[in-house]
Amino acid sequence: MSTAPAPDGSAIVAAKRRTEPSVSELVIHNARVMTCDPSRHGVGLIDHGAIALSGTVIRWVGHDADRPRGDRELDAGGRLITPGLIDCHTHAIFAGERATSLGPTRAASDAELIAGLRGRLDTALAAGTTTIEVKTGYDLTVEGELRLLRCIATASDTRTQRVVPTLLAHLVPPERVAVRDAFVDELCERLIPLVGEARLATSVDVYCDEGAFTLAEARAIFAAARRAGLALRGHTGQFRDLGAAELIGELRGLSADHLEQISDAGIAALAAAGTVAVMLPGACVQLRLPVPPVDLLRRAGVAMAIASDLTHFGMTVDEAWLGVTRHAARALGLSGGGTISRGTRADVILWDCDDPAHIPYRYGAATRLIDAVFVAGERLSATLSPLAS
Ligand SMILES: [Zn+2]
Repeated sequence: MSTAPAPDGSAIVAAKRRTEPSVSELVIHNARVMTCDPSRHGVGLIDHGAIALSGTVIRWVGHDADRPRGDRELDAGGRLITPGLIDCHTHAIFAGERATSLGPTRAASDAELIAGLRGRLDTALAAGTTTIEVKTGYDLTVEGELRLLRCIATASDTRTQRVVPTLLAHLVPPERVAVRDAFVDELCERLIPLVGEARLATSVDVYCDEGAFTLAEARAIFAAARRAGLALRGHTGQFRDLGAAELIGELRGLSADHLEQISDAGIAALAAAGTVAVMLPGACVQLRLPVPPVDLLRRAGVAMAIASDLTHFGMTVDEAWLGVTRHAARALGLSGGGTISRGTRADVILWDCDDPAHIPYRYGAATRLIDAVFVAGERLSATLSPLAS
């Protein structure tokens, strides 16, 4: 794994560099290409389109009639091509059941944690998730959280799928509740500087809510993250609005996630800062929470991402697509990510349908509509058993 300094989160855990000089070109033509390119309208659909993949990147995108010649050609038969999906909010490293994972995660060996995570990454990739964020947060000790980040690095080291690690300041662990100030100091003065120095994560996410960290604690943790050169994200207003959206906006964080409870001032702060609102429909349904104010966020011009689910959730089909591509990339600080445009990583999906509206309505069954996944230019469908069935 190679990492680069990420003062604003825009540098990322880079694609694993392939040593062979693979520059063979594949041109996929006769396709409907959903580029999600911000320089085009809406989701940037090109009917009768084509793309050229060269090595690990997209070299060309445009109309079929203008397409370049490639070493290999693939006729898409009028089917849809989209960017690979980006899941920008997961808690995918743990042992045991996620809801009660502190004990089992602390007790698990590195090998068990890595194997569990690899299995989840494979499942996500089979469903078209070519970029996935993974948060820590189920150990809650300095050494333990560092261990989780090292396990994430090991699990992702040999993969072409892009894995973006986040340090989550999740909760005050039960054994530290009586000395919570000392615990927050330890996060700020030991854990976060160590993570920043070793480049083990690109951002710090703070759970600022009732039962988690207070607004004042979140401010202190974010300040430490800033000093360590890490980007800022927040679990915000899932149960109660403590003003965390305003804080993340003020600090120009990458994303504010959940937002079931958010004030008008919070929405205005996100809009002014260009912070992405990340919706988590799965969590809402499971916990029977109210739906975030999608209408108000839309009217304020806040970019919305959706994590871990393709349900449309009061959002339009176009918004849902941008929410799992371009806007999700922005929530992770991956500039240019989640689009099909010249020079971006060749992460694309060839779907077995021609209409973008078909896919969000399939809920969990969308995987069956995938014809092929290309990750960093490499076609994966042949090697992934879930796609073969
Ligand atoms: Zn979460």
